[in-house]
Amino acid sequence: MKLKALADEAAPYLHELQSVRRDIHRQPELGLHTPKTLERVIASISGLPIEIVRPDSGHSSPDLDAPMTSAIVRIRGGKPGATVILRADLDALALNEDTGLDFASEVAGRMHACGHDLHAAIAVGAIHLLATHRDELAGEVLFFLQPGEEGYRGANRMLEDGALDYASGAIAGAFGLHVTTSQPLGHFLTRPGTLMAAAATLDVTVNGRGGHGSAPHLALDPNQAIAEIITSLQTMVTRRFSAFDPVIITVGWLSGGERGTSNVIPNSASFGATVRTFSEQNLAAVESFGRELVAGVAGAYGLSAHVDFSIVTEPLVNSAEHVDLAERVATDMFGTGRFTIADTPIGGAEDFASVLRAVPGAFVFVGACPPALDPATAPYNHSNLAQFDDSVLPDAAAYLAALAFARLEDVSPSA
Ligand SMILES: [Zn+2]
Ligand SMILES: [Zn+2]
Repeated sequence: MKLKALADEAAPYLHELQSVRRDIHRQPELGLHTPKTLERVIASISGLPIEIVRPDSGHSSPDLDAPMTSAIVRIRGGKPGATVILRADLDALALNEDTGLDFASEVAGRMHACGHDLHAAIAVGAIHLLATHRDELAGEVLFFLQPGEEGYRGANRMLEDGALDYASGAIAGAFGLHVTTSQPLGHFLTRPGTLMAAAATLDVTVNGRGGHGSAPHLALDPNQAIAEIITSLQTMVTRRFSAFDPVIITVGWLSGGERGTSNVIPNSASFGATVRTFSEQNLAAVESFGRELVAGVAGAYGLSAHVDFSIVTEPLVNSAEHVDLAERVATDMFGTGRFTIADTPIGGAEDFASVLRAVPGAFVFVGACPPALDPATAPYNHSNLAQFDDSVLPDAAAYLAALAFARLEDVSPSA
């Protein structure tokens, strides 16, 4: 398979892929229920020699207001071989768009600010290329069309619903792309090992006994204890964790007493923090040390505390072998200078991490910063001003398809 030829072949897809992307951009959908987005993708690949499975068994849906919408597209190759998983996430974010683009969101309070609309269009392009050249595909590709990446654990739910069981062969790898405004247009970036952080939420409530501000000895003041807990958490980060396996704890909200009422000691006080770690070991350790610290500080002053620790995503860990392949494919297709190994992981989190815990693979960022902007200062993913240049779509689609062709060729017994 000539990988470079795939990029040339994808170039004329530009107009169609932009139209998919912009239609989806105008009508963002949130969470695990993204039916219109999924239908737009499926309409653009119908008629191809592919199989579309709707695995919405609903076993993970009873807690949902609306059913989860997902699909798995199977592209069966003309040669026997293994299975490669590709994935696109389809959901938007709950914020108002202020980009002023002529295809800006038409739904108040919703915006494709993370570029998942581009991921949908990349999927369309990649599936077209894979289906067109299925005779050269040594095995099969399962393309996961996934809702609910933004905090809904959509990838985890697809796995719980048995998404990996659809593989006909041994799974030889999983790949996903993510557009970013912080890289130049068409530039690929990833790294072996941990690429993205684990995220968890730490919610703490300290229960004391309210009273008069002039007589704290007759009360049990939760505000004083919670202030000490918050500062002690940062001490915990530096004293109980290795500086070479970082931990980030950021308190995002804090509440104790009535605003403006300074002479009353409240009964209780609370805060919530986001936790980021770059190893599963530290994720577990933040929970156990954190619980110990909160109970210890509160207990030292005669108060009690309640801790909720919930994991949002595990760390996203790339396989070195699959990152090597990602580099080789980018260089084959686009020459040198379009692919970089990142020096450090980033603190953002991504639920594709759960797929990469189950099967080895690689997640790769692709730059979509409009050329008129500087990637160092362009409004970042999730900003109400974030703009993604969709001229990157054909190259990104060809690259994702090429990763599957190349991986299957690498592991194919006939190669
Ligand atoms: Zn996002
Ligand atoms: Zn995203």
